[in-house]
Amino acid sequence: MRRKVDTNPLLPFTYDDILYIITAEKSNTSDAAINNVGGKMHRRGDAECTLSSHSTTAPSERKGIAVDIQIEKARELADRGRCIPNPDGTWSVFSLTSANRYKVNLNAMNPKTGGRTRRTCTCPAFELDQDCCKHIRAVLCVKRQEDADRKQGKPQRDRIPDGEPIKFPRKTYKQDWPAYEAAQTNEKAEFLQLLSDLCNMIQGPERKRGRGRPSASLADQVFAACYKVYSGFSGRRFTTDLRDAADKGHVSEAISYSGIARFLEDKESYQLLQSLVTQTALPLKGLETKFAADSSGFSACKFDRWYDAKYGRMHAEHSWVKVHIMTGVKTNVVTAVEISHKNANDSPMFPPLAKATAVGFKIEEASADKAYASYENYDALEAIGATPYIAFKIQATEGKGGLWAKMYHTFCLQKEEFLRHYHQRSNVESTFSMVKRKFGDSVRSKTDIAMKNEVLAKLICHNICCVIQSAYEFGIEPIFATEAERDTKMILKFHF
Ligand SMILES: [Zn+2]
Repeated sequence: MRRKVDTNPLLPFTYDDILYIITAEKSNTSDAAINNVGGKMHRRGDAECTLSSHSTTAPSERKGIAVDIQIEKARELADRGRCIPNPDGTWSVFSLTSANRYKVNLNAMNPKTGGRTRRTCTCPAFELDQDCCKHIRAVLCVKRQEDADRKQGKPQRDRIPDGEPIKFPRKTYKQDWPAYEAAQTNEKAEFLQLLSDLCNMIQGPERKRGRGRPSASLADQVFAACYKVYSGFSGRRFTTDLRDAADKGHVSEAISYSGIARFLEDKESYQLLQSLVTQTALPLKGLETKFAADSSGFSACKFDRWYDAKYGRMHAEHSWVKVHIMTGVKTNVVTAVEISHKNANDSPMFPPLAKATAVGFKIEEASADKAYASYENYDALEAIGATPYIAFKIQATEGKGGLWAKMYHTFCLQKEEFLRHYHQRSNVESTFSMVKRKFGDSVRSKTDIAMKNEVLAKLICHNICCVIQSAYEFGIEPIFATEAERDTKMILKFHF
């Protein structure tokens, strides 16, 4: 075995240490590396000073080493009593060297299968790799040790932090409670007024004159569709609410529930609703300069069924829509949206999202996970003068140079600096969970186009709520477009 002596004083471990751990890991995966209390592990640096944060080698060469050191650090976290179970089944893991605390969930929902099989952590390393981090390993280690102790009838082990105990100050988040309270209590009234303002800007086609009942105006149709989604009611039960809104003058007529369904079924509605999502974000353009992109699914009640010739049986799967969004990281407003085929790749959706956002906003930074790491996406952001914080795939190289190479070097050599910006990405997940919590994570519509339009209506409702919240919190004036914009770049002229 080739032995190499490390001479870099920054590295906390020697290559001998690493070789020892790797050999131990290979010979007995579960115990030697994790339960090896008298392990031959000498720490020369502090606990946060790891190979992964200081190494200058490419990530592909680093990965194996980083994992072994992670296992060792996980054992240390476990042994030094840093993993505390929470009443809700999650765990709090306290850093050994700082006042940071991370939440580990071993039963998080897997967005691909809907099962509770995903392990998550709130630390930056997990955020970046979406992979098992030292905190998750530490919790698994504690659970494994406790199971083993229980089987052998041993008493519960004392896990007392050694050395100087670190004080963990409770993090306080700045939340403007009076503003929040005011925004929440007035939300519905403000919502109807803003939705009505928005719809009044839509310039629809001339109404057809002829025999029979004239069709409702486009403004009335959009109002009804969005208000219905906001109310969460089924078409028939929603009728009373819409009649009340008409009495209050928010809408010129209360269209029937079948009229709402027809509007959502129309494929021409898609473009209108998509541009309304962007339009409803514009009042916040003074607040947002950093953005994040990601995709998520909304499920439908219906099943897709198909015959699998290979296995000779029928398959059924919940039908769903895949939604790609870009969101402002401060207010969680959705600035652009694309809805693709459910199995489409994420990466090609990024340039159109960035382009649509850049029309109304100044993008200084944009973050996305490694599924979006492509030259095209870096180029798209460079073209609009934005700094990309898109995680690199493990096999990435400095490649074609330019901004890509510059960010790649930041990613490899100044990981903390990269993570500080990249961490904003988690806001796009908050945006999806806000929308799903408030307006539901499934759609009522049955056809593909209606499902897409219904999701767009949810996003419009979400944006209006963000605008209301910000109006109370930051004192912005919720105007969807100025007079000048209305004449020049108004995108709300529609010809059905
Ligand atoms: Zn972690």
